[in-house]
Amino acid sequence: MGRYVYLFGDGKADGDATQKELLGGKGAGLAEMTRIGVPVPPGFTITTEVAVDYSTRGPEYGLRDEVRAEVRAALTRVETMMGRKLGDVQKPLLVSVRSGARASMPGMLDTVLNLGINDDVARALGREMNSERFAFDAYRRFIMMYSDIVLHVRRGKFEELLETIRHQVAAKKGLPANQWNAEELKRRVPDSDIPADELEKIVALFKGVVKTETGHDFPTDPEAQLWGAVRAVFESWNNARAKTYRKMHGIPESWGTACNVQSMVFGNLGDDSATGVAFTRDPSTGQNRFFGEWLPNAQGEDVVAGIRTPLPLRREGEEAAGTGEGSSLEAKMPDVFGELGKIRDRLEKHFRDMQDLEFTIQRGKLFLLQCRSGKRTARAAVRMAVEMVKEGLINQKEAILRVEPSSIDQLLHPALDPKAPKQLLARGLPASPGAVTGQVVFTAEDAERRAGQGIGVILVRIETSPEDVHGMKAALGVLTARGGMTSHAAVVARGMGKCCVAGCSAISVDYREQVMMITIYDDEGRKKDTLRVKGGDVITLDGATGSVYLGAVPTAPAALSDEFAELMTWADAARKLRVRANADTPLDARTARNFGAEGVGLCRTEHMFFDGERIPAMWEMILASTPEAREKALDKLLPFQQTDFVGIFREMKGLPVTIRLLDPPLHEFLPHESEQLERLALETKTPLDELKKRSVELHEFNPMLGHRGCRLAVTYPEIYAMQVRAILEAACEVAAAGIEVHPEIMIPLVVTRPELDRMHELVERVAKDVFARTRRTIPFLYGTMIELPRAALLAGDLAHGADFFSFGTNDLTQTTMGLSRDDAGKFLPAYVDQGLFPADPFQSLDIEGVGGLVAHACEKARGVKPAMKLGVCGEHGGDPASIRFFHAQKLDYVSCSPFRVPIARLAAAHAALSEKGSDATA
Ligand code: PEP
Ligand code: MG
Repeated sequence: MGRYVYLFGDGKADGDATQKELLGGKGAGLAEMTRIGVPVPPGFTITTEVAVDYSTRGPEYGLRDEVRAEVRAALTRVETMMGRKLGDVQKPLLVSVRSGARASMPGMLDTVLNLGINDDVARALGREMNSERFAFDAYRRFIMMYSDIVLHVRRGKFEELLETIRHQVAAKKGLPANQWNAEELKRRVPDSDIPADELEKIVALFKGVVKTETGHDFPTDPEAQLWGAVRAVFESWNNARAKTYRKMHGIPESWGTACNVQSMVFGNLGDDSATGVAFTRDPSTGQNRFFGEWLPNAQGEDVVAGIRTPLPLRREGEEAAGTGEGSSLEAKMPDVFGELGKIRDRLEKHFRDMQDLEFTIQRGKLFLLQCRSGKRTARAAVRMAVEMVKEGLINQKEAILRVEPSSIDQLLHPALDPKAPKQLLARGLPASPGAVTGQVVFTAEDAERRAGQGIGVILVRIETSPEDVHGMKAALGVLTARGGMTSHAAVVARGMGKCCVAGCSAISVDYREQVMMITIYDDEGRKKDTLRVKGGDVITLDGATGSVYLGAVPTAPAALSDEFAELMTWADAARKLRVRANADTPLDARTARNFGAEGVGLCRTEHMFFDGERIPAMWEMILASTPEAREKALDKLLPFQQTDFVGIFREMKGLPVTIRLLDPPLHEFLPHESEQLERLALETKTPLDELKKRSVELHEFNPMLGHRGCRLAVTYPEIYAMQVRAILEAACEVAAAGIEVHPEIMIPLVVTRPELDRMHELVERVAKDVFARTRRTIPFLYGTMIELPRAALLAGDLAHGADFFSFGTNDLTQTTMGLSRDDAGKFLPAYVDQGLFPADPFQSLDIEGVGGLVAHACEKARGVKPAMKLGVCGEHGGDPASIRFFHAQKLDYVSCSPFRVPIARLAAAHAALSEKGSDATA
């Protein structure tokens, strides 16, 4: 560790924007803003290295003396800059102590505001600011926050007391508080209505709670308060919600959070004070317009907590927000708004990206408290990236790297069918795109439970908090009654790519009764009706418009924007890997082409046998007791297969199509239920006993390692012969129609060279026959999957007998790790949760183990045939982290499900551009 603390203030800073790893996103942003002359209250950042050291040593050892010494020295410098002192009873300094990790984790880590207050300081503050009310409001907020985060006293304990006081205030005003629930009471008697003397009483009561709950007095020494808060911020890295968030976003556990200690400025000093958040461009659509929300006479936490509905920044947004004419910052404080607008332009030019800003106005003076690259929907990310290239702010390669490959999944989501009839219930804010239908649930726990039963649910909350994150994750969509576009629900849902309608004020939620009431208005805006929606009722959300509908509404496929198409052409030019699709039907093939697939990397032919009218022929084939009988049944299956292949070849118009011959064990095709067996006996005129006997014969204890893949064709060569005939006859038919075809015949589950050669002879024999009969020769490739460790180890030998290899990383993972694909779901999540595996190896390739076999096989294959065509067709072909590895192995292509094709194209471009030596930012 070098230095521990980095100072910023008065136009100078020790750190800068490049030091995100050390200072966290927030610390680096504060340093850089200070450097370029943006008004930032002075402060300092304690590095992430200190945090990591603190938790590695164990929190019981506390902060090192050297760290404390540097913090004290930095604090003295800040005190000098501010002309104030922590704990001073004339001119006290209050500070905020905030977390700030390398990657933004909104609301997941802890923050303590207004630190440095005790009884004497509160009085001094009251005198100085000429407002006792302000001073005691800050004091009670501080006790609540500090006790919750540092002393671990439940917030609810304080809320209960506050509620009692609110009742008293309401009673004095003659308001019917008894008829309201806690949420309503909070809204009708806001904090600003509680007078100073009541607040002073609350402070005393709060201190009593701390004493009862912890056995100690609330700490009155500001420096002791500071050490407590710094440690709590470091420790918040390990709270449960932060862990869940990191897992979802792939943020390493080892990073730790920096800690920012900064002089407080106050947005709650009256109507000339305010606080707000802003995005330099619209984070939902990407449109280049200043966008944000503010609250007069409030502290930052009030905006994100969603307790009060925030007002729009710009006049233009007043109507959409429904907050009334003249409610915007632009209208209320035009000068400050003008200054903020200039800072917006400067910051965006300086950082060359959309920024998320937090600001406070203290008695008419503007301060910036945060600036970081803003979270955005995938749609916004694409639009901003492309427009910034046009504006000359960034280059094409940077634009590609600005769009997270996995995020574009959101763009491929369906939207509501515009023509479908629907009953509008209410309209809220379009917080995160997508369209979903589901049953209403009111708690995160219910969301998780019902989703676990396979039921699609929509989580409805008055507002969400970090405790709800697991429920949001489980739900298809989120609806909140309160909170703006920057509320917790909006920010978190957007990050998850989950549909969200926020701030839907026409609904009121009653958790106890498990209902939401919706007030329906007529065209003139008069109250017309009230509707009850209970838990379990079905509603539909449209995240693009903020509309909420009763019942299910059909969806229409996603329409991709012109900007998306343009970005993808840049990505295509940048990538080296080709991207194919796993497609089993002509329809899949068409979808895949529309998404930009450059061929079919895997057609699993067994899927073609399951179809309604084909399955009886399949049964007949399996039950046949002689090769002749089997061939007769296969003759019935042949036209079906051939029709499908013709369809796929036509859709793929000249692109390569890899068709894999039958893979799964035969017993999978036989019915297992006795009722079905009886029906089958009738239909096939086979004695029931014989069917049962055959079923038993085919039964395997471990079918995944049993009679499947090419092993089927060793015992029943007629099956593969029929398939090869179907493929090549289809190819001849399509070629005869003037369409180019490039079939690639692939053999599954090969482990030895003799197996591969045996299958090759079979394929060649059938091909010769087909070409002789059709008088047409279609060049085709012959290859194998590499999906068993032995095949990977002996890939050099196999390469002599194959034109191409395709890594079947699903089976290769199963067999290398000894993890059953069918059963691992029961314990794999525990392995990932407990950090024993970094990720589910069936989703993201185990690079060291399974990847090691892939790398070995590539090397051996190229040793025999330097230009050997190598691809991958396991699930990992659509996973961005695995794609980086496949790129590094210089594979020719990855193949994945059609909907993942755009993700894979972009991920392949990322892999190429992130490579050492790439001129991505040139
Ligand atoms: C594989 O094993 O990776 C593969 C693509 O084949 P399947 O999933 O059909 O076993
Ligand atoms: Mg396989």
